Amino acid sequence: MAQKHKGAGHGNEDCCAFCGAKRSDVALMFQGTGGVNICNTCVERGYMMLVESELTEDKRSKRGGDKFKMEELLRPHQIKAFLDEYVIGQDDAKRYMSVAVYNHYKRLLSRGDKMAKDDVEIDKSNIVLVGPTGTGKTLMARTIARVLNVPFTIVDATVLTEAGYVGEDVESILSRLLQVADYNVEAAERGIVFIDEIDKIARKSDNPSITRDVSGEGVQQALLKILEGTVVNVPPQGGRKHPDQKFIQVNTKDILFICGGAFDGIEKKIAQRLNTRAIGYGLRDSQRVDNENLMKYIMPQDLKSFGLIPELVGRLPVLTYMQPLTREALRSILTEPKNAIVKQYERLFAMDGVELRFEDEVLDYVVAKADEYKLGARGLRSICEAIMIDAMYEVPSSGQTQYVVTLPYAQKKLENSNFLELKQVG
Ligand code: ADP
Repeated sequence: MAQKHKGAGHGNEDCCAFCGAKRSDVALMFQGTGGVNICNTCVERGYMMLVESELTEDKRSKRGGDKFKMEELLRPHQIKAFLDEYVIGQDDAKRYMSVAVYNHYKRLLSRGDKMAKDDVEIDKSNIVLVGPTGTGKTLMARTIARVLNVPFTIVDATVLTEAGYVGEDVESILSRLLQVADYNVEAAERGIVFIDEIDKIARKSDNPSITRDVSGEGVQQALLKILEGTVVNVPPQGGRKHPDQKFIQVNTKDILFICGGAFDGIEKKIAQRLNTRAIGYGLRDSQRVDNENLMKYIMPQDLKSFGLIPELVGRLPVLTYMQPLTREALRSILTEPKNAIVKQYERLFAMDGVELRFEDEVLDYVVAKADEYKLGARGLRSICEAIMIDAMYEVPSSGQTQYVVTLPYAQKKLENSNFLELKQVG
């Protein structure tokens, strides 16, 4: 005969040892050995907690806690094919990125491979991606993040300052990575970080400064340590898992860094270098310089001339570039990527039961305006928005089932909006 668990004021009746509810008040009371009882509500609650915690484990492993196998890795061709679905053009950069990510995985695998007979260690190949703003650097990074099963984060170099100054310390990069890894340190240590606007921490003059340069060289030095591989004490910002812990130690030797930057004006440095060479050795016809697109000749020394310290350049061995977008590329961006701007508007209208169609001339017009005002791919969206705002306001309550955007309509809407005037002033 089980002992009675007596809750306060419950007399001799059996009570749930967890919530104290009386047997008469619950649907079911389970009796354990030693006379301890638990009611159906508490069993349900416990079950839910179990399910939730299992889900969390599952999520964590998806974010990179899992080990992967060589056979399961996406090959560079497959990674590039995935990038092709979202990013137009930029073939060179896509190939470099695909190989870099693939090699990153292989590097991680080879470290864990205790059976390897030789002691060849594969070096880390951090990447630097150079190209004008709005050519898809961030888009590329975000897209690559979709295929990865290691933690991935994008940080902005402009907010970084040397330790002790207003702004974020370089360690904050790793706090972000830890957050996306759900504070699984082992997973974070195998992650990938995209540092955007790396050119903004270039030192202002080519000569190392005597005075301290808070936002430039000092940050580069701090970044260098992290890129090289070191153990960093990371403050667990917003760390719900370790609220009492002051610092988490993260070793950065296996973290892959991809840096992106516009490096405005770097073409001049490239031209200077090419000219010096031309005078020195003379160029054969086959080596004629394509002045329209100097970016493709970019070399590590140009990054140095731009103001990155040589040590940092040395830690970014893979250098690739993004092409400025041609009109054809802008036109494709409107319609081709999986989440192309036009497809997004079609979806918005379809949700109101309206079939939306843009006349071809409208799309050409949008591209022409983006090009004319030098707005690049970012401008496409704002121009479309200026054209579509009235239609998006009216159509849902109009009862229409079809809507065609014609060229005169688009011209009228864009001219009436002050969008282009503002751009002209700017
Ligand atoms: P960056 O980082 O080089 O300044 P972004 O990646 O932020 O440029 O690009 C801005 C926007 O322009 C993106 O959200 C995307 O919609 C569009 N875009 C830019 N380049 C491309 C491209 N090559 N293919 C598809 N869309 C692009």
